[in-house]
Amino acid sequence: MSIPVIGVTTSRAQNKAGHAYLMNMEAYIESVSRAGGAPVMIPLGLPDEQLDAVWQHLDGILFTGGGDVDPQVYGGEPHPAVGGVDADRDRVEFLLIRRAVAERRPFFGICRGIQTINVALGGTLYSDISTQLPNALPHPHDPFTERKLLPHTVRVEADSCLAEVLGSTQLPVNSLHHQGIRRLAEPLRPLAYAPDGLIEAVTLPGHPFGLAVQWHPEWLQEQAPMRALFCALVDAARKEKNAS
Ligand code: MN
Repeated sequence: MSIPVIGVTTSRAQNKAGHAYLMNMEAYIESVSRAGGAPVMIPLGLPDEQLDAVWQHLDGILFTGGGDVDPQVYGGEPHPAVGGVDADRDRVEFLLIRRAVAERRPFFGICRGIQTINVALGGTLYSDISTQLPNALPHPHDPFTERKLLPHTVRVEADSCLAEVLGSTQLPVNSLHHQGIRRLAEPLRPLAYAPDGLIEAVTLPGHPFGLAVQWHPEWLQEQAPMRALFCALVDAARKEKNAS
């Protein structure tokens, strides 16, 4: 069986000596690998034409979690809780999202990923849920929050592709974010909601596989529905690869 190559977006960090690193959490890499895909990390800092050359080798792509999208990009309200903004990462991911949409290549977004996809396609975000969404539930985002904690449920649209993948229309999820979708981008369709009304999953109708979730399935891999999300990405990427 052919092994599709799945790009995984990265973020910037520094080691103790202050040297710049490009990195991401190993849980993303492990989850793609467990699902049968060959993960490759996509560097930041490349000019568009080199990024395009990398893109040509990918059968699918995972847009990962991380810092906040720059609120200026979507006309959002500045807020003291906005952090980890990286204009270069925004540029790289927006370019890759637009490629994935235009070239009909499978993509999956997680946490920041659902937010970058929404902004890249014309939507906006709450730059801080707790102060901008009336009656918001706690959606903890402290980096020390237990990643397997399941603070709220999501209601998944019945008869949707997501309900089919998860095998359920109601499930508890982890929640490691302080931002979320405010105005949904016109091409996207909501697929799941938190009890406070926040959109927690979207799809791009008409695309072979365009899905994003606000929670972090990569930390819940002992649960079959969370593994199934990664399998759905990898299976779609394999199908597109074999068809091309
Ligand atoms: Mn949440």
